[in-house]
Amino acid sequence: PPLTPDDVLRLVQERDIRFIRLWFTDILGQLKAFSINTSELSDAFEGGMGFDGSSITGFNAVEESDMIALPDASTFASLPWRPEEQGVARMYCDIKTPEQTPYEGDPRHVLRRALDRAKAMGFDDFMVGPELEYFYFRDARDPTPIDEGGYFDLTTLDAGSDLRRETVLALEQLGIHVEYTHHEVGPSQHEIDMRYASALKMADDCMTYRITVKEYARKYGLHATFMPKPLFGENGSGMHTHLSLFKDGRNAFYDPNDQYYLSDVAKAFIAGQLRHAREMSAIFAQWVNSYKRLVPGYEAPVYVAWSRRNRSALVRVPMYHPGKEQTTRMELRCPDPACNPYLTFAVLLQAGLEGIEHGYELPEPMEKNLYHLAPDERRRLGIEQLPSTLGEAIELTADSELVLRTLGEHMFNRFVEIKRQEWDDYRVQVTQWELDRYLPVL
Ligand code: GLU
Ligand code: MG
Ligand code: MG
Repeated sequence: PPLTPDDVLRLVQERDIRFIRLWFTDILGQLKAFSINTSELSDAFEGGMGFDGSSITGFNAVEESDMIALPDASTFASLPWRPEEQGVARMYCDIKTPEQTPYEGDPRHVLRRALDRAKAMGFDDFMVGPELEYFYFRDARDPTPIDEGGYFDLTTLDAGSDLRRETVLALEQLGIHVEYTHHEVGPSQHEIDMRYASALKMADDCMTYRITVKEYARKYGLHATFMPKPLFGENGSGMHTHLSLFKDGRNAFYDPNDQYYLSDVAKAFIAGQLRHAREMSAIFAQWVNSYKRLVPGYEAPVYVAWSRRNRSALVRVPMYHPGKEQTTRMELRCPDPACNPYLTFAVLLQAGLEGIEHGYELPEPMEKNLYHLAPDERRRLGIEQLPSTLGEAIELTADSELVLRTLGEHMFNRFVEIKRQEWDDYRVQVTQWELDRYLPVL
């Protein structure tokens, strides 16, 4: 059963916790925190803790800057990288207005609202299993890999082994069940896979995962990054996201009588991902750099299609394993690990529900390697492409009724404004590539 405020008050005594960090997330998925003394804890559970939200990205301007952080007792955990004596624990918070209503700029609230819609449609759980990839580098200004290992490489090539082991043990202490870890395709690239969980817990866990990986890298004098494409010519870092809906404790995506073992619900949900992928891109791939990853040739998707095996497609439906009905799911391959997980899971859910509500038809699977299809053939097959820049992506989002409804007006407007600004900042740069290419000949 989830921890209650009383449990937390007791654990704080038992574990000699001196400080409680209250965690929440800004619009761009950056973790924010402030620390309170444990003696404030009862008050915090009662009415929340006030703070000034005016400098938090995507929150309100100064005029309405008073915010309340209300800790969610069920997320209580001690921080394993802090001292054991007089230790530190953390809780995720829901952000409220001074009137105690949910704050429309809080990403957790956006996800809760999407989950409410799923409930209203009869689904009691939205399960998410993300695979976050990342790199270890010498430091934040120097993207030199610390090893030359490749996919599943082991032993001496994998300089990250000890570090990864410590990181995994820490994640488990933080209540995250780790299923797999391995070296990824790129040099110095790694992946730690968490067992799938309910979307809200999983979004919290993604935030925990990122900070934990970074904290332990720092202990080893290294820099861990979730930047989607740090190295030109190498694989980027993705966050493949496995999705399924549950109804009455059963997997609503499973149908034993279908050739793909997919129910009509699953098919319509997948069709929703495909139909809305382009307008959602700015959410699941939110940085200028995200679009350097979504290019042909690096196992990242570019074309909007689904498949059972083909890793160049946007959606893959992993083979069904007999007896493992619970694991029937779809894998969306376009998100990257530098997204805001709350907004990403919210918009993916809303797109899927849209498909279910309006009975979208799932097209035929595409088993060909889409990277190899000629552009004419792709067009003939009606296969669309993801936007190729953040600039293109944000304009698609700006026109999206689905994203507007998912984020709510306040957050939607702020998001579009922030991302247009980022694109403009980038667009006017004169890059090294241009100098190398043009200066000698023009
Ligand atoms: N790194 C690849 C990507 O950018 C994915 C590799 C894989 O795990 O299949 O999505
Ligand atoms: Mg991977
Ligand atoms: Mg995968």
